[in-house]
Amino acid sequence: MNPVVIVGTGLAGYSLAREFRKLDAATPVLMFTRDGGEFYSKPMLSNALAHDMSPARLASADAARMAAQLNVTVHAGAGVSAIDVAARTIEVDGAPVPYSSLVLAIGARPLSPPVGGAGVDAVFTVNSLADYARYRAAVADAGRVAVIGPGLIGCEFADDLLSVGKRVTIIGPDATPLGRLLPPRAGAAFRAALERAGVAWRLGTTVRAIARGQGVHALALADGETIEADLILSAIGLRPETGLAESAGLAVRRGIVVDRFLRASAADVYALGDCAEVEGLVLPFVMPIMHGARALARTLSGEPAPVVYPAMPVQVKTPSCPVVVSPPPAAAAGEWQEEAVEDGVRARFLTPDGALLGFALVGAAVAERQGLAAQLPPVLA
Ligand SMILES: Cc1cc2nc3c(=O)[nH]c(=O)nc-3n(C[C@H](O)[C@H](O)[C@H](O)COP(=O)(O)OP(=O)(O)OC[C@H]3O[C@@H](n4cnc5c(N)ncnc54)[C@H](O)[C@@H]3O)c2cc1C
Repeated sequence: MNPVVIVGTGLAGYSLAREFRKLDAATPVLMFTRDGGEFYSKPMLSNALAHDMSPARLASADAARMAAQLNVTVHAGAGVSAIDVAARTIEVDGAPVPYSSLVLAIGARPLSPPVGGAGVDAVFTVNSLADYARYRAAVADAGRVAVIGPGLIGCEFADDLLSVGKRVTIIGPDATPLGRLLPPRAGAAFRAALERAGVAWRLGTTVRAIARGQGVHALALADGETIEADLILSAIGLRPETGLAESAGLAVRRGIVVDRFLRASAADVYALGDCAEVEGLVLPFVMPIMHGARALARTLSGEPAPVVYPAMPVQVKTPSCPVVVSPPPAAAAGEWQEEAVEDGVRARFLTPDGALLGFALVGAAVAERQGLAAQLPPVLA
């Protein structure tokens, strides 16, 4: 019997292997990853300085331990370079490896900031344990850190940097931080809270160029000002990893296109996690992976099961100002209603007839999370 092959050992790959083993103890499972294959919780990367977590502590199990635990074979340091959907093989180190089912759980890659200058090579992005190791080592010697990108990940890293005494500036074009997630009043409250905690905001502008000096970087902003930093972290977004699928002729839009059964456009090929576009939705978060892994495990064990997503609020891990968001569907009809509560803001996105489609809770209002989440419709019924 050809094995089930899973490419990627992030949360998606390992969660699927775990769920599959609950249903099928016998079918061989081969996993390939171009990284070290350690298991770690990626969301912890943006809170790890505060908890003084070394990369070794974050990696709760190495590849060998994961393989033993899940009764699978893990090939670490093994990049998959091609897929032949007609022959049902993948290529690893120039050799074909056959599959009965192939799951792409290959994640996403950080976007590079569109800036010029010799200092651009010094910009850090953190989307893996190896990235975190480099970043953590560099942070130790930095007093001033510039964070490019006032979104969820950028703000989490910024708050984490504050907690270890760094001076942090966040730069981005939006009028308020978390602009895609928070309506204006909630965004303003969040901005003020992080400012009180020590963040210097440079909003409404972008970085045009980065010049590199003796360990100091000068960031030239579009508004004409220049700021200096010892370290620059970019968090301007992720792009699903689609190159491998595209070269194999699989349908790709923003992510690898899959249906409710996580089936890609060739027989017995599936995609899960940050790389996947499920019925038009790219949701690079933990909960969609967990729901997807459970459904796909059933499908792979011979009992096809569509993915169902309930409402999945996301917590922004900024201890200086807690936030929980559940954005409304794109282009939904309705409007935000924002109310100040004691030490926070409650924002609800309501349809014209008053149904709740999304919410954003800032500060003390996060206590209302469960009650509001219970009123939301599912993301994918
Ligand atoms: C800093 C940070 C904080 C976050 N915080 C939260 C949070 O609080 N809540 C939340 O819900 N989500 C959060 N997320 C998002 C969440 O962590 C991700 O959605 C999730 O970890 C993605 O898992 P994945 O397995 O799809 O991808 P990845 O973890 O990126 O794994 C991809 C795997 O594919 C492998 N791979 C790629 N290409 C190849 C190839 N060609 N050959 C072999 N192997 C390959 C890689 O080596 C890796 O093993 C956060 C993300 C970041 C970066």
